Amino acid sequence: MTNLLDRRALLFGRSRPAADPVRPPGALPEAAFRSACDGCAACATACPAGIVRLDGGRRPILDFSQGECTFCAACTEACPTGALAAAGARPWTVRAAIGPACLAVGGVACRSCGDACGSGAIRFSPCPDGRFLPVLREEACTGCGACVSVCPAGAVAVRPTPAVLPLGRAS
Ligand code: SF4
Ligand code: SF4
Ligand code: SF4
Repeated sequence: MTNLLDRRALLFGRSRPAADPVRPPGALPEAAFRSACDGCAACATACPAGIVRLDGGRRPILDFSQGECTFCAACTEACPTGALAAAGARPWTVRAAIGPACLAVGGVACRSCGDACGSGAIRFSPCPDGRFLPVLREEACTGCGACVSVCPAGAVAVRPTPAVLPLGRAS
C-alpha cells in the first residue's frame, strides 16, 4: 500500500533544482540560448496563444497564466537567429508540478487541473481519509501548461526537468 510519504512524492513530483526559465519550445540549451537570442521579440509577436513574453533581459519566456502552448512552432519558425531551433529539433523537457497550495490537500473537492489536461496526465487518487489528491504522471505530461491558469490556488507550475523526452510528447 502506498504510504503518506509515497503519496506526497507522487503528488508533488520528485525534487527539482532551482528552475531555469521556461523558454519557448526548441530553445537551445540555456547558455547557448542566451548567447544566440538578441531579444528581437519575433517569437512573442508570432505566438498565436499570446504566452510568449520577454523577461528582464529581453529574452522570451512562456507565461502560462495567459494560456497554453499548442506546439504550433510559430515561435521557432519566426526566430531569425537560431536561438529557437526548428520544431522537434530540441527535446522539450518542460513538465507540470503540483505544489502544497493545492486545495485538494485541504480536503476541497477540486479537479480543475485534471479536467483541463487533455493528456490525462493528472489523475486523482483516493486517500483513506476521503480526500482525492492529484497525481502527476510525468510520462504523460506534454508541458503544455493548460493546467496552470485553471488552478484556483495557483498551485500548479510548469518548469524544465532533467528528463529528455521528445517535443510535446504525450503517451
Ligand atoms: S509553439 Fe506556438 S503556442 Fe507554443 S510558444 Fe511557440 S508560438 Fe506559442
Ligand atoms: S486545480 Fe489546483 S487546487 Fe485544484 S486539484 Fe488541481 S492543483 Fe489542486
Ligand atoms: S502541462 Fe499539459 S499535459 Fe502536463 S499536466 Fe498540465 S495540462 Fe496536462
